[in-house]
Order: sequence, then C-alpha cells, then structure tokens
Amino acid sequence: MNKLLNLAQSNLLEMDKLHYAGVLSFGHKKLLVFEILDTTDRVQRGFAQKIVRAYRTVSLNAAVALAGLLPLDLRVQEAALLYEVKKGHSQRVLRDRDLERPTKYEEAEHPAHLEGLQFDCLTDGDEVAQRATVDVRIYTDGSKIDGRVGAALSIWDGAAETSCRKLKLGNFCTVYQAELYALYEAVKFVVRSPSRRFGIYSDSRSALESLRSIDSLHPLVGEIRRMVKGCVEAGKEVRLNWIKAHVGVEGNERADQLAKQAAVGVKTKPHYDKVPVSFVKRQLRLDSLDEWNRRYKEGVTASTTRVFFPDAISAYPVLRKLELDPVLVQVLTGHGGFAEYLHRFKCKTSPSCICDPARGESVLHAIVECPVFGRKRVEFETATKEKISLENIKNLIRNKESRTKFIEYCKEIANKIIERNKTK
Ligand SMILES: [Zn+2]
Repeated sequence: MNKLLNLAQSNLLEMDKLHYAGVLSFGHKKLLVFEILDTTDRVQRGFAQKIVRAYRTVSLNAAVALAGLLPLDLRVQEAALLYEVKKGHSQRVLRDRDLERPTKYEEAEHPAHLEGLQFDCLTDGDEVAQRATVDVRIYTDGSKIDGRVGAALSIWDGAAETSCRKLKLGNFCTVYQAELYALYEAVKFVVRSPSRRFGIYSDSRSALESLRSIDSLHPLVGEIRRMVKGCVEAGKEVRLNWIKAHVGVEGNERADQLAKQAAVGVKTKPHYDKVPVSFVKRQLRLDSLDEWNRRYKEGVTASTTRVFFPDAISAYPVLRKLELDPVLVQVLTGHGGFAEYLHRFKCKTSPSCICDPARGESVLHAIVECPVFGRKRVEFETATKEKISLENIKNLIRNKESRTKFIEYCKEIANKIIERNKTK
C-alpha cells in the first residue's frame, strides 16, 4: 500500500507540484481518482480542441460544447451505471421495477426448433380469406400514443368477433414490446383453448421476424417459442401471419383500435412493465446531459462561449449546422488574435483597443460596442432589423433568419483585428 502511495505521489509531484499539493493529504484512494479524472479532462480537452481547431488555451467546457462531445468522465460514469443496473446491483432508473433481461444464450431455443415459427405475408383481405382455413383467428396489435402504451387481441370465429382483450403496458415500454406482448397473449390463448387450428395475425414484421431469428434473445420471444412448441406437440396447428397494416382487414382494424384504447383508456396496473434496456440508456444519457449542462452553465470558464450559447444542450442542434472554421472558433471562444487575449499570454504589450486606451480589445467589445466597427454594425442592424447587444447575441445565433449574416459580420470584424494585431 505504502509503495503504491509513494509511486503515485512521486508521479503526481513530477507532473504538477502545486496542483496536487492539497490533495495528497487525503490518502491514496482519493489521490488516485483525482489523477485519473484530471488526465481524462486533459485528454478530451485536447481532442475537442483539435476537432474544432481551437487555441490550446480554450477551456474544456468551451471546447467540448463546441465540438458537441459529452464529457468523457460522464460517459464513463454512464457505462458504469448501466453495467450496475444490468447486473442488478443498482435500481437506478428502474426504481421498484424490473429490467427486461435477455434470455441466456444457453437457454435459448435450438435453431433447428425454429422452423414452426415461419410466417406468411398477407397483403390484403382476399389473401386473409383464402388462408382462413383455421378454427380461430387472433388479430394482435400494439400501440403507443402520447407516451402511453397498449396492446390488444381480437379473437374471431368465422365472420364474427367472439372476444377481445385490452392490455396495458408501462409508459416506458416500446411499441415493439407491445407487439410482442400481444403475440405472447395470443399464444397463451391458444394454449388454453380447446380448438385445434389457429391463425395469429400481426402487422409487426419486426416482432414476427424476431420469433424465427436465432439472434433474438428477447424474453417474450423465448416464452412464445416455448408455448408454440408445446402447442404443436399437443397436436395443435398454429399459423403465424404478417398482415399489411391499414388495408381494410376487419380484424386487424379492430385490433388496432383496441390497442389504442388500451394505451389511453385502461387505467389498471400494467399487464407488462419490464423496463427495456433502451429506456435505461436513454434516461442515463438525459441525466448525463443535465449534469454536463450544469457544469457548463455554472463553470468559471467558457464565459465568452456562453454569451453565444447560454445552454450546452440547445447549442448542439445549432452548432451542427455551423461550419466551424478557425476564425469563427476564435470569435466563439474569445481565444485568438485579440489584444486582450494576446496581452494575457504576454504576446502583446497592451490589451487596449485602438478606439480607447481604457477599453480592452476583446471579441465581445469589438462585436457589440467598438465604434471602429460602428458602420458595419448599423448596416447589419438595418438589414436584419435586429439589435446587436450582449443580451441579444444568443438570439442572433439561434434564429435561422439572422444567423448567417451575424456570423459573417463577426468574422469580418475578427479577421480585421487578427490581421491588425499580426502586423504590430
Ligand atoms: Zn474598440
């Protein structure tokens, strides 16, 4: 233990004495974590800077925001949390619900047993009628409306519906789960029914495909396969059919309508509420984005970038549409050929703007108030009927109508300043 501590201590001290001086006294565990996080920050800051071609002094917050990257430590944390949830060590996101766990590979059906799970494709009512040589037809459907999920069965004997079922699923469930759950309930009905020949109809090709695919380890798929196998062994005939949606097949329309009613109308406890992994992933990502945005908004760095993009998450769709060239990145970060910046890094004797020795030449000063660019500013404001002010910069970038012209204006000014500072 002591050896490890000494090793870490000497390495850290070599890297940056002052930075780590206070941390060493906390004991070796915290010290090591601190080192890893710091390295992660530096690595991704370098990456992000290269992606947007920013100055090497640009902060991590500004660089990752402009590059549209999620901070690496949050991504690592996300992967670790997902692992914990999958292993059952954490109930995060799940709370009191269960995760939908895939069937273990060794417990899945042998590929040779999947032959009975082929399905026919029916494209209209005539084809359904031609193949209706079964005793019972079961139409299934799943639906998601306004974030609520339902599934349904409509059971037919000859020309009339004999019974139906509306099934409710958890709000976080997917339509695919709803479609599979409807098929599962349909096969369960077959198991219990005294009739011999059954046709099951679904308009979800993906759900039917997964029944016959050896790659699908969905737990409902496993249950359906097991039951179908049992039915066949008991001398029952189960025919699976894909039916094109909305071609006027009465049973299919009815199942569609019932599934929608189940989604919005059924108020009981869900019949199926296993949480899909995709939902857990999405929630963890939303948490990471929230945390990332909090850091960005509350950080001491990236103050110039925040004038253009006050919010890291809503910045992303705008930044994706922008072509970030080095001059624009200098504008958006304030790190570039501006006197105030050059002076800070001892590349220029004075930080002042040429308009007034008392005013620092920052990118925001130049864009918003420097009289040297007064004419350009008036031209822009007249053409767009927009005001250039510190408070309005975020809107000028966000709005499609003003964005291109505003960026042109900023870059023109930045280019002039950068040129001027090069020659002096
Ligand atoms: Zn000025």
